[in-house]
Amino acid sequence: MAADPTAPSVAPDEAPSRLKAGNERFAQSKVSEGKPVAARRAETAKDQHPFAIIVGCADSRTAPEIIFDQNIGDLFVIRTAGNLVDDYALGSIEYAVDHLGTRLIVVLGHERCGAVTAALAGGSAPGHVNSLVRDIQPAVAASKGKEGDALTNAIHENDAEVADKIRKQAQLGELAPQIRIVEGYYDLDTGKVEWSAK
Ligand SMILES: [Zn+2]
Repeated sequence: MAADPTAPSVAPDEAPSRLKAGNERFAQSKVSEGKPVAARRAETAKDQHPFAIIVGCADSRTAPEIIFDQNIGDLFVIRTAGNLVDDYALGSIEYAVDHLGTRLIVVLGHERCGAVTAALAGGSAPGHVNSLVRDIQPAVAASKGKEGDALTNAIHENDAEVADKIRKQAQLGELAPQIRIVEGYYDLDTGKVEWSAK
């Protein structure tokens, strides 16, 4: 494991292929490498070097450790409904990059996202749900009129806008050129993650 906290936790090209291989195992229902956790717990008790930051939706069906077949210590996960990022999330990303050696950031939207569905319905929502709806509505507006399914388009657009916000607002200093930000779309039916070409 990297002794230098600013050194990458894994080679930059290795991180995406680990996630792809893990998602393949999950979708194919082959043996999970995400378990058992006892050995991993001992390995990671004093130190962590997660190889990917996942900005995912709070949706209970999209747990990154499970859908990427990873163990404790592998993923640095930030989840809110609609996979949005606020100051806390940006600070968490900066921390993982600066102190844990993480170089890959995945913005992970998913099929039939309830938060995006609410934003697509228009108007305002009660309580703090309105903050989610308000911040997803620009993606709804930007994807309006595009060919295909309105919800799917809005989910992809929201992922792109969140990725863009991270690119513009996360303060990654001299590590910024080493950071790769990719967008994924998780299919609830097949269990597969589709990756946006970047
Ligand atoms: Zn969702």
